[in-house]
Amino acid sequence: MIDVQSSPPGQSIYTERRAASRPAVPLLSIVVPVFNEAEVLDIFLEETEAALTGLHLSVEYVFIDDGSTDATARIISRHLAAGLPGRLIGLSRNFGKEAALSAGLEHAHGDIVAILDADLQDPPGLIPQMVSLWRSGFDVIYGLRVDRSQETLAKRGTAHLFYKVFDRLTQISMPANAGDFRLIDRSVVDALKRLPERSRFMKGLFAWVGYPSTYIAYERPLRRAGQGKWNYWRLWNFALDGLTSFSTVPLRIWLYGGGTVAALAIAYAVFLILRVLIYGIDVPGYASLMVSVLFFSGLQLLSIGIVGEYVGRLFIETKQRPVFLVQDVIDYAAAKDEPALPTDRSAE
Ligand code: UDP
Ligand code: MG
Repeated sequence: MIDVQSSPPGQSIYTERRAASRPAVPLLSIVVPVFNEAEVLDIFLEETEAALTGLHLSVEYVFIDDGSTDATARIISRHLAAGLPGRLIGLSRNFGKEAALSAGLEHAHGDIVAILDADLQDPPGLIPQMVSLWRSGFDVIYGLRVDRSQETLAKRGTAHLFYKVFDRLTQISMPANAGDFRLIDRSVVDALKRLPERSRFMKGLFAWVGYPSTYIAYERPLRRAGQGKWNYWRLWNFALDGLTSFSTVPLRIWLYGGGTVAALAIAYAVFLILRVLIYGIDVPGYASLMVSVLFFSGLQLLSIGIVGEYVGRLFIETKQRPVFLVQDVIDYAAAKDEPALPTDRSAE
């Protein structure tokens, strides 16, 4: 696991080879999942456009409307009609951010893909620095949150615990305090598209695919406008999802737990038999009986619950339902049969 103190990984033979073959004027796809973000969209576009001017690349926006019920889609469509390069992918309902991101990667054409939240918590101002790291050969450049002091103690504590448990239970090393905010190369996008699973814990999937990675440390600002969509219950389920999609250790624990309990039970049985043989039959202890019955039935329910969690996951996966459904794609450039490639930003 990468900690904040250590410096980012350096160059290798792989990054040097990649750097030599990067296209001079790449197409950058800005993938933005949006769910009821009408309040913040105008300012998001203003800041992102400002951050991108002067860069030697082409840009396309890929907005994924994750079932918004406010003016989100209308606002985006208005910007696209006014010449903003890119498209709006309208999902058929709210599928959640993870599914929306998968839809975004599916519909992005870029040589590089930047994943941003619409609420400006992922500063677009970092994109130029990420692009230059990409040019120097890294395939994944993620944002690392160094200062979470604006979040509540409880949120920071539970986040810390989650990363610790995740690190212990899985073989992949997922950087702590990295969100979905990142810039990834086309090869990583293609790798992600090859992962067929339905439960898409993106942070884990990003870590699983690997590729030369580095990070930019930043202070995560507060949401600029509108409402956050996560509550504790959703976060808890998200954490469970992440753990059970990447680790079978919770299942294996019962092998050892069960083994230990069985060994103790045998020892206790031997003790009881010997006691009966030596002292004769005693009045049985109601309390110890009750305690052990309750304790072990609780343990059994817990283990069945954990097994159930994985069976549920198998159930979801075997149904093979698509991760998301698209109800509409708004793409003015494609409608006019024009090439989707916008102009070189450096000319602006
Ligand atoms: N989002 C989404 N679908 C959802 C929830 C959120 O597409 O069901 C988008 C949201 O519009 C935003 C990003 O995901 O662009 C992050 O959401 P939010 O700010 O609520 O999450 P947080 O910053 O608390 O992680
Ligand atoms: Mg946010």
